[in-house]
Amino acid sequence: MNVVCPNCNASLSVRDEYAGKTGKCKKCNEQFTVPVAPPVVVLDKAKKKKKKTQQQNNNQTVVYVGNQGTTNSFALSSLILAIVSLVLCWIPIVNIGLCLLTLVILIVAVVICVFKKGTGLGYIIPSAILLLISFAFSFALIHTIGEVGKRSLKEFQEKDKIINNMSK
Ligand SMILES: [Zn+2]
Repeated sequence: MNVVCPNCNASLSVRDEYAGKTGKCKKCNEQFTVPVAPPVVVLDKAKKKKKKTQQQNNNQTVVYVGNQGTTNSFALSSLILAIVSLVLCWIPIVNIGLCLLTLVILIVAVVICVFKKGTGLGYIIPSAILLLISFAFSFALIHTIGEVGKRSLKEFQEKDKIINNMSK
């Protein structure tokens, strides 16, 4: 039969003939009386279950308190700004301004997150991703505009050359 040591809680298998007698625990060497045919295994499992649920409850309360006690408003603001800058990333100059503003607030949010042990991380990660996307869009747009500008300038200069040549 299985017996739980009352000193160290180790689960020990004991021969049935030792029921009601005093024995030593193999693990902690503490003397204890082997109970007379107890339903130890069942009890033990029930206890473990109880412990588990208690632990789960404890974890839940800890998380709850953490969320309630400390807030990271900068993280939420950076997420909102990241969405706005992504929506407005097709407007030149405005997009870069919004992206830079979002970046500044995001950095503040990250600093707060580090000091407050991960507060607002759920906002910081998506806003960082959105910010990256809007940065990429903004730079791609500016690059495209720049290329188009260069090309039209070249075409203009070439036309100018042709006209000059013709007039010679
Ligand atoms: Zn023991």
